[in-house]
Amino acid sequence: MSYDIAVVGAGVFGVWTAHQLNLNGATVLLLDAYGPGNSRASSGGESRIIRLGYGPDEIYSRSAQRSFVLWQQLFENLRQSLLETTGVLWLAREHDPYADATLATLERINANRERLDHDELARRFPQFDLARVAWGILEPDSGVLLARRAVQAVAAQARANGVEYREEAIAPLQAVHGRLKSIQTVSGKEILADRFVFACGPWLPKMFPALLGDLIHVTRQEVFFFGVPPGESMFGRGALPTWIDFNDLVYGMPNLDGRGVKLAIDEHGHEFDPDSGERVVSTSGLKAAREYLAQRLPRLADAPVTETRVCQYENTWNGDFLIDRHPDFENVWLVGGGSGHGFKHGPAVGEYVAGLISGTGKLETRFSLASKKKVRERKVF
Ligand SMILES: Cc1cc2nc3c(=O)[nH]c(=O)nc-3n(C[C@H](O)[C@H](O)[C@H](O)COP(=O)(O)OP(=O)(O)OC[C@H]3O[C@@H](n4cnc5c(N)ncnc54)[C@H](O)[C@@H]3O)c2cc1C
Repeated sequence: MSYDIAVVGAGVFGVWTAHQLNLNGATVLLLDAYGPGNSRASSGGESRIIRLGYGPDEIYSRSAQRSFVLWQQLFENLRQSLLETTGVLWLAREHDPYADATLATLERINANRERLDHDELARRFPQFDLARVAWGILEPDSGVLLARRAVQAVAAQARANGVEYREEAIAPLQAVHGRLKSIQTVSGKEILADRFVFACGPWLPKMFPALLGDLIHVTRQEVFFFGVPPGESMFGRGALPTWIDFNDLVYGMPNLDGRGVKLAIDEHGHEFDPDSGERVVSTSGLKAAREYLAQRLPRLADAPVTETRVCQYENTWNGDFLIDRHPDFENVWLVGGGSGHGFKHGPAVGEYVAGLISGTGKLETRFSLASKKKVRERKVF
């Protein structure tokens, strides 16, 4: 059988792309080497923040706003919410151009938001030691997507609508240019389609080493969960919001599902191989997380680690996504470069890719291959 479109990769970008293409009437085959939302995938964690604030990058604020609507529609259809509305709190400094720009963008897009001064922050969120924090922005409707379960839910919905799914690993392309007729599985099968989407996240540089080896940098990232004191509700949903300490490059979430308070340092780690990389956290990473906790959430200074995860970001030079046609193949599309902030945008990315493939959408220059550079200057967070 030949499909209209084969989508390789069932992470958040791939499942939403397959789902949207199917809604547009295409016959779609979705493939993944390890399964939707698997533990090696960037989309494979328990939780991901969904927020509208993006400093001056209104393009991502609007994309998150659109995605919010599509996530909620999906959860309504499923009669199961995989969104925890914890609120998202930005902690800002006295002189803080990024927070100023975030607030201005939120105003421009008419997002629900509150500006909180230092005293108001201290009154409402006594869990925090507010050293160096002068004010904050609260996005009350934002929060946390239950990531792995959400990816699996989109995949299940897409299959129920007619998308075919196969667990197969696709081998790097043998052809060098022109119109791609088929792709091969590593088990030796040939898959025929009119068009191909490669939404392989951190595997994109392995799939296209000559093209993307220097354009997508895969970095190792550590995540910690810290157990809260017994019977203590001040770190749970409704009391502690999800927070972003942008200037310290740290973010965290309340105790959801009894896993503990989640904490992650957003600074890029070392290069990482998503297939063979060992996913055990480092002593230095734990030390840094504890130092932060001792300062910002002192009641958790000695809290025990309840869970850890090692994941990876697939970073473009500045954090902009990569969504474009392959320069050597007229019918091959590259979709990735989530750069540590892509999860929330899955629905809008799927819609955008479906529009590009059907010819109704317009290419956004910031996502183009031509805009990608080899230098590393992170600007989008
Ligand atoms: C620790 C961490 C925290 C993050 N926090 C947030 C957050 O709070 N908010 C947010 O919005 N974003 C966040 N992100 C970023 C977000 O999770 C990623 O941008 C997003 O999940 C990327 O999705 P993807 O579909 O591009 O890639 P992936 O989820 O990695 O999916 C790619 C898929 O392709 C498959 N694949 C690869 N190669 C092949 C092949 N050859 N054949 C078949 N299948 C193949 C893989 O098995 C995988 O399932 C975070 C990321 C990490 C790691």
